[in-house]
Amino acid sequence: MKTNTTNEEWKVCDTCANYIANGDATSLDYYYQEEEAAKILDTMNKNLEEAQGHAVLSSEEPYGFSNYTCDCCESQAGDRHIVKFISI
Ligand SMILES: [Zn+2]
Repeated sequence: MKTNTTNEEWKVCDTCANYIANGDATSLDYYYQEEEAAKILDTMNKNLEEAQGHAVLSSEEPYGFSNYTCDCCESQAGDRHIVKFISI
């Protein structure tokens, strides 16, 4: 099977990196009230659905601190990981 990396690249927070790598968003429950956590998960899923291709966490070094909002959950500035997209 031939896979191509698209040009799309996201910088995402720890929570989203975990979600994209493991499908695990339970850390949201740790940081937020249930209602808020559900809203953020909705945003993450909406952005992932609208993105072209399948999101994969890059094996490159973490990006480090960014002043921009997370490309996935739109949270405030913080440490970021690189996410790339594969077209199938
Ligand atoms: Zn995020």
